[in-house]
Amino acid sequence: MTDVIVVGGGVIGLTAAVRLQERGAKVTVWAADEPAETVSSLAAAVWYPTRTDADPRVLRWAAETYAEFRRQIEEGVPGTLLRRTRMLLRHPNAELPWWAPAAGHVELRGAQHPYTNALIFEAPLAEMPVYLGWLRQKVGNIERRRVASLDEATAEAPIVVNATGLAAGRLCGDAKVHPVRGHVVIAQNPGLDESVRDEENPAGVTYVHPRSTDVVLGGSFDDARGDTDPDPAEAAAIVARATALVPQLTGARVLRDYIGLRPVRTGGARVEREGNIVHAYGHGGAGMTLSWGCADEVARLAMN
Ligand SMILES: Cc1cc2nc3c(=O)[nH]c(=O)nc-3n(C[C@H](O)[C@H](O)[C@H](O)COP(=O)(O)OP(=O)(O)OC[C@H]3O[C@@H](n4cnc5c(N)ncnc54)[C@H](O)[C@@H]3O)c2cc1C
Repeated sequence: MTDVIVVGGGVIGLTAAVRLQERGAKVTVWAADEPAETVSSLAAAVWYPTRTDADPRVLRWAAETYAEFRRQIEEGVPGTLLRRTRMLLRHPNAELPWWAPAAGHVELRGAQHPYTNALIFEAPLAEMPVYLGWLRQKVGNIERRRVASLDEATAEAPIVVNATGLAAGRLCGDAKVHPVRGHVVIAQNPGLDESVRDEENPAGVTYVHPRSTDVVLGGSFDDARGDTDPDPAEAAAIVARATALVPQLTGARVLRDYIGLRPVRTGGARVEREGNIVHAYGHGGAGMTLSWGCADEVARLAMN
């Protein structure tokens, strides 16, 4: 018999499963979809606590995750990279942001109009299709199974982790969970090695995240749309904004674009124990950023 069933095989479920196994638990993951079909596999997956509140718990998860990814990058874990990041700001800032203590050395510099400042720091990035494959191999015991109710899992294991992302809203009747549509474009990397962000762009959130052979151009954060219908005009606008931000992208070949629904939860992610269920869902646009810190917390809650 298994000690823990983790329902959900995205980045939150798989990292939790790894931490539980490291503490000696026998773990089985039930996942409705292959890792490649999850929201996690679509993430730009750059460390940054996107649209999270300045909450001490979030700061701890973000710091622990940052440190873990730095360790994994040193170790050469497949799919992990470190990128110098230039985050451009459009409102005068005299102080470092609340999340800066989690990100090692963060420097606040001046910047040219229309920007007021730039934050310079190093950010881990995970090439998710590869990284999820590595996590999956590490976990080992994954079954393709869609539950209609978490009771199916509690009937088979003494502890259940609910890491079902957006589906958690329905599975545990949490009305605070809702989709926020995100659109990214993948282009060939013309030789870039710096991440650039212009989150406050009035035309739409804009970012350029170079990976090993391609570059992720973003983006959108649309809470009015819960569909994943293609939108070529939106994709073209993303490419135009990204190219204006990083002119070396001019003429870069577009490979594909895709749309994912972030599992946002009003008030932040729910990571807490309720009877024999440990909930871990609602990480919105920061699931990679908070993953390992949350996984540690899930393991503590599950094995106390
Ligand atoms: C365009 C875009 C860009 C992003 N960029 C970043 C970024 O740069 N940095 C960052 O930190 N985050 C980013 N994110 C956010 C990140 O992708 C999410 O926070 C993260 O993937 C959530 O992980 P999860 O494991 O909770 O959910 P998911 O990846 O959705 O996994 C949920 C799992 O639950 C399973 N499941 C669901 N229902 C059931 C059921 N009934 N029975 C069994 N299993 C079930 C699914 O099959 C899946 O395995 C981005 C998201 C998008 C869309």
